[in-house]
Amino acid sequence: MDLIERTPTSRKLARVVVIGSGLSGLAAAHRIHELTASSRQPIEVVVLEAKDRIGGVIWTERVNGFTLEGGPDSFLTNKPWGIDLCTRLGLTDQLVETDSSHRRSFVVRKGQLAPVPEGFVLMVPHRILPILTTPVLSWRGKLRVLMDLVVPQRVEDTEESLASFVRRRLGREALERLVQPLVGGIYTGDPNDLSLKATLPQYLAMEREHGSLIRAAWRQQSRDRATRQHVRHASGARYGMFVSLADGMDVLPRTLAAALPPGTVRTHSAVRRLSRNGAASPWMVELLDRPPVEADAVIVTTEAHSTARMIDMEDPGLALQLRAIPYASSVVVNVAYRRDQVQHPLDGFGVVVPATEGRSILAVSFSSVKFPSRAPSGTVLLRVFIGGATQPGLFDLDDSSLGDLVAQEMAGLIGVHGDPLLLRIARHPRAMPQYILGHLDHVEAIRRKLTKYPRLFLTGIAFDGIGIPDCIHAAETTAENVFNSLANPASTAAA
Ligand SMILES: Cc1cc2nc3c(=O)[nH]c(=O)nc-3n(C[C@H](O)[C@H](O)[C@H](O)COP(=O)(O)OP(=O)(O)OC[C@H]3O[C@@H](n4cnc5c(N)ncnc54)[C@H](O)[C@@H]3O)c2cc1C
Repeated sequence: MDLIERTPTSRKLARVVVIGSGLSGLAAAHRIHELTASSRQPIEVVVLEAKDRIGGVIWTERVNGFTLEGGPDSFLTNKPWGIDLCTRLGLTDQLVETDSSHRRSFVVRKGQLAPVPEGFVLMVPHRILPILTTPVLSWRGKLRVLMDLVVPQRVEDTEESLASFVRRRLGREALERLVQPLVGGIYTGDPNDLSLKATLPQYLAMEREHGSLIRAAWRQQSRDRATRQHVRHASGARYGMFVSLADGMDVLPRTLAAALPPGTVRTHSAVRRLSRNGAASPWMVELLDRPPVEADAVIVTTEAHSTARMIDMEDPGLALQLRAIPYASSVVVNVAYRRDQVQHPLDGFGVVVPATEGRSILAVSFSSVKFPSRAPSGTVLLRVFIGGATQPGLFDLDDSSLGDLVAQEMAGLIGVHGDPLLLRIARHPRAMPQYILGHLDHVEAIRRKLTKYPRLFLTGIAFDGIGIPDCIHAAETTAENVFNSLANPASTAAA
């Protein structure tokens, strides 16, 4: 009996196996399918997923009128690839912007909530007056932020951490009180370890071009004003900074999967190992408890540590490099209350918590304020972020301790009392790669090793950007390379 799942021996149909059905895997499979359909190239795609559901960290649950996001809840629009994909999938009607009435966030200072100064975006003060009047910084801290206008540019060309860059340009207080909690919430990482070049290179470019973040922001604002006047006359939809999908984020992976031929996506299919009989033979994708699948090309989109396990036997050196990408674990707790159980007016999108405050949560997002349709009227839906690289021990708390921790923190920060209407815990073990100092060189070294394997491709959150638009872009670019390598084998062989 032939236990290997083969294409017909005539090999009329080339097969691409995509490992992982997170957004990267599904976007890659979908792009190959698009190219195959439009060019009539006979290429089959199979997506193998270890879990019983698709979507990876995108994880939506609908309970009693609440839409709970256990993973991402929105994505940036200033990078076009998320919106582009939604448009191609016919999802533009589903795109929703954050509610415009309360577009601001709070930061905790000495246990109290204070608004993040208006115009302060991640690490750039776009406006001076809110910096001068904010209760978040001391007078010394405020003046130090303004010194960004005169602090000379860095001369050394060595890689700099995010924390070092902010300390140098805006001072230690702005780092600890504003930038660390704002950025830490996104990367669930420690700014002292994160590489600026790998995470937020646009700020490095701002310093290089304008000698100051504040000056760069002013120039950008005048350019934006000019563009807005120009665009006002143009047609086409324009969106705010973040959008989501009206029925929940999992609509995106589900629509991607539905656009693929039936049977393409196989859940309960954990890949154990990738092997070959020789450099010229196809890949054998070995599964935990199913027959192996033969592949002419493989796109691996799993977490780097999981990919390392698959490639260990074939290339231990490559596996070692993949394992060297550190990951952080985090927990997202969706918790709902009646409106009258919460004292705070909730006139913002949420709260970020500086590490220096010594609390047990990273941030809390006021989901039902950002996206009012996510909760029935008269109720409040919150998303609480816990763990990450800075508080790894909290990930290991059991559900009941996490519930207690959330109750205590919500009572202290926003005056919540009484039991929640519902509480759901989503754990993300080793799901967030940390782009630490040296990340880009490290990825480059991995890519150099991969040149040995012309039909093995790696993409996903571990490499070229952690946000949804970045992952889509990287996955689609990879899919195009795979398609070209199969459609024009001679060109790849010559390359
Ligand atoms: C808690 C959290 C919140 C986030 N919030 C946002 C946000 O609001 N906005 C935003 O833009 N981005 C956000 N991100 C980042 C965003 O989720 C990612 O950009 C994107 O979803 C990553 O998709 P991926 O497919 O690369 O990885 P994943 O979603 O991790 O998918 C990897 C898949 O591989 C599967 N797999 C692993 N091992 C195997 C194996 N051996 N065999 C088969 N399958 C395997 C896994 O089960 C999983 O389904 C967030 C991330 C996290 C963790």
